[in-house]
Order: sequence, then structure tokens, then C-alpha cells
Amino acid sequence: MAFATIWELLAVGRDGDAALGAPETKALDFAGLRALARRTVADLNAMGIGRNDRVAIVLPNGPEMAASFLAIGAGATTAPLNPAYRADEFEFYLTDLKAKALVVQAGEETPARAVAAKLGVPVVELMPDRAAGAGSFTLAAGALKGVPAQAGFADTEDVALVLHTSGTTSRPKIVPLAQANVCASARHIGQTLALKPADRCLNIMPLFHIHGLIAAVLSSLAAGGQTVCTPGFNALKFFAWLEEAKPSWYTAVPTMHQAILSRAERNREIIGRAGLRFIRSSSASLPPQVMQELEATFGCPVIESYGMTEAAHQMASNPLPPRERKPGSVGIAAGPEVRIMDEEGNLLPSGSLGEVVIRGPNVTKGYEANPDANLKAFANGWFRTGDQGTIDEEGYLRITGRLKELINRGGEKVSPLEVDEVIMDHPAVQQVVTFAMPHDKLGEEVAAAVVLREGQSATERELRDFAAKKLADFKVPRKIVFLAEIPKGATGKLQRIGLAGKLGLGA
Ligand code: AMP
Repeated sequence: MAFATIWELLAVGRDGDAALGAPETKALDFAGLRALARRTVADLNAMGIGRNDRVAIVLPNGPEMAASFLAIGAGATTAPLNPAYRADEFEFYLTDLKAKALVVQAGEETPARAVAAKLGVPVVELMPDRAAGAGSFTLAAGALKGVPAQAGFADTEDVALVLHTSGTTSRPKIVPLAQANVCASARHIGQTLALKPADRCLNIMPLFHIHGLIAAVLSSLAAGGQTVCTPGFNALKFFAWLEEAKPSWYTAVPTMHQAILSRAERNREIIGRAGLRFIRSSSASLPPQVMQELEATFGCPVIESYGMTEAAHQMASNPLPPRERKPGSVGIAAGPEVRIMDEEGNLLPSGSLGEVVIRGPNVTKGYEANPDANLKAFANGWFRTGDQGTIDEEGYLRITGRLKELINRGGEKVSPLEVDEVIMDHPAVQQVVTFAMPHDKLGEEVAAAVVLREGQSATERELRDFAAKKLADFKVPRKIVFLAEIPKGATGKLQRIGLAGKLGLGA
């Protein structure tokens, strides 16, 4: 079925089929979700908010966050923000977005309220109505009244979602994603994973990130299937949710998969009954060792995909069996065209190393009000991802690093991913992240942070000797620190840039 807006997408599911769920909550069916979207758009219009007007959303993770993305997104532009932000961060984002309103949950304290008051952004309270089904809510407009410039359901080229880039080195940029962009991405993911109405996704990803919004929520609904929304990732509760929700799949970032694996042994029985059709991993590179362990533990294929905010998430993905999945590869183009480009803007043949570029119906038209960034980001109609990689003869893409994450050791480039892969093979190592450490002569030197497996030990010397068996000297980390946990960003991704500073490793 053809759909290019969220409202059209919501028409795919059958009336009585479950659309949204949550632990210990009655599901909301598609008829209920459509009624919620229709009512929400009418309520927003009565507040003077219409198509392309921005509504910032600060809600706890859960079915209401998913439902508000869908219902508000049906008739306005959603701007989900991380509820963990501090006042200064809310001030930056609310100002940068020029939000017309801020939606918060009734009774939930958040510094966003005071910031909105200071900036004169009207606050709309969302009241969950779990008795009516997971995600159901009503909005209290307060004194907000008006007539929007454009009322009704959004059109294909209207902006459905704005997110900021997760850039760690520069000021975050606004990424506008049109209704058609997010719908194309949802359709691509559904095709890759052969999603059907019978599928049920367990969402543990944060819903202020593109991965959770599109891969878990929108792709499921676009296939007429269901998403069960948890309050957010929790390795201790994961297995109980698995048992209760009986999902056919889940999607997560590698650090979450690793945390799940570390508790798998004591949850053998639940895993045995789970019957997952597949597990999806995206947003950061999945070490082949973790992929193997996950497949062996859950007895289902692990599908690694490659996603990015600017592409409304999915760009490439390993295919389901019987087609081959290649560990260490992010798979084949899965939606947009994917190619490798050199610095001059020439497309390169298979086997060459260069920048990954994409173009297709899911890709943003460009950063908002940022001609400089757009000049750099687009070349001959291709969007430059900033990732470095290579495509093999069979079309499988391997990401070799983030161009700006490459460690530059006095001119010698070291891919942190390559070092990670080698050290991961040491039996005592559970997790490793290689990063650049400032060095007074070389500029940068290679360092690594390691989490050891429970009950195992290894010294810095042992790990360096181990790495030196497979890596040239210049790639062997000069410094290895042992940690109980590696600091992560808001989305659960490991952040190589800035890690040296966080760990107090200076020149
Ligand atoms: P985000 O916009 O937060 O989704 O981050 C996008 C970036 O995450 C990409 O440009 C890549 O650098 C990285 N990324 C996403 N998926 C993968 C993957 N499977 N393997 C390696 N890096 C990935």
C-alpha cells in the first residue's frame, strides 16, 4: 500500500489489530490510534498549531511518546527532546527550534517547563489515558487558542520530524525530515526485515532518537504490526518484558546487546521460550564476536544495519536468511543508493576506500538555515555521511570509521574500529573502545578503554602484547585503561570523540 504521510501510514493496519503496547497495559489498536491522531490534529489546530509548526516534545520513554510522535506528526512537526537535558540544553534546543509549543506530561517535573516559561513558549500538558489503551492521551491546551496558517493533516513534503545532529565536535545542526522521508525509511526497513501484521517489536531504544522512532515504531506500524514500548532500556527488566510481550524482534545499539548478553546465562529459560524471528542492531558497529554470541544465545539471525539521522535512519542492512549476512559488514544498500566517493566528489569502483555517500527518498533535503554545512554535505546530489568505508564485489558495505574519528598519529591514520576488533578477541575482554589521546609530539596517540568479563583478569601489558600480535606497532594502544563501564552518550552509543578528556587522559 502506498503511503507518504504519517496519516496515510496509520491507515495500513487493520482496525482491531494491536498497534501500540506497553508492559502490563492493554494495547491500543489501529482504529484507536487513528482516532487519537484525528483528535490530536483537531486539538492542535484549535490551539493555532498546524502543518510545519514545531511542537517540542519532552516525555518519558514509553507508549505516550510513541503515540505523540505519530498523532502530533500527523498534522504538525514533531521535535522530540531528550528528557534528561539540563535547563541550559533545553534553552538551546527550544530557542534553536523556534518551537510553537512544548508538550510535557502532566505531573512530570522537567526543567523544560521553566525554560519554556522564560522563552514564552506555551506549555501543553499531556494526560496519559492508559485505560483507553497504551499510548492514548488527551492534551490540555490551557489558554492557548488560535487559527493555524495550514490546518488538517500534513502533506508529503511537510516536515514531520526535526532532530539535531549528534555531532560531538561542532554546534548541533537541525535535520528536517519530511513526511515522505520518514515514510520511505519505514517502508525500507519493513522490506528489509519482511515485517508483517503478525510482527511485534519490543522497543527499548530512546524515542528522541531516530533509531527508536523509525526502526522500532514507524516501521512496525507501516507493516500493520505492533510496537511494545518499554520505559527505556534496562538490562535487569529486559527478560521479563521479553516474557510478557512475546515480541518477534527487537532493535538496539551494540552496548545494549552486550548488556543483555551479560545477563543471558541466568535467563536461559526465558530465552528458550522467546522465539524471536531475528534481532536487529544499528547505530554503531557491532563487533563480530557479539553478533556470534547473540546468534548462539537467541538462536536467531542478527541483522546489522547502518543508519543515520539525516537518512531518517536506515541506509544499508544485512539481509535476512537465506541471503548472506556478513559479520563486520553493515550489509547492502537498503533503501537509498549507497556509493563510495573520493574527496574530489568522484564515485569510486568497488573495493576502493572513501567516504560513504547516499541519495534516495529517505534522505533529508538539507540542514536547516545552514548553507555552509549543506555546501559541504552535498556533492552532485549525493549526501556525504562523514563515514569512511568500502563496498565489496557483492555490494556489502564495511564501515572503517567516522572520518573525523580516525586517529591521526603524527600523520599515520589509525582506525579505532580495527583496533577494537583485535582486542575484542582476547578472552578476558567484554568491551573495548579505542580512541585518540592527545600527545605533545604526535598530536594524537592511540588509547583504549576496556571492560573485563566478570571474574576475568588481564593486565595492560598482556593486552598490549596481545594486540601487537595482529597490529602494527603504531596501532597498538599506548595506554589501556580498565573501567567498570564505558561512558556513553544519551542514545547509548559509545563516544570516541572527547573520551580522553572525560577519562582525564591529557598530553
Ligand atoms: P545517528 O545520526 O545518531 O543515527 O548516527 C549516525 C552515525 O552512526 C553514522 O554516520 C555512523 O557513523 C554510525 N553508525 C550507524 N550505524 C552503524 C553501524 N552499523 N556500524 C558502524 N557505524 C554505524
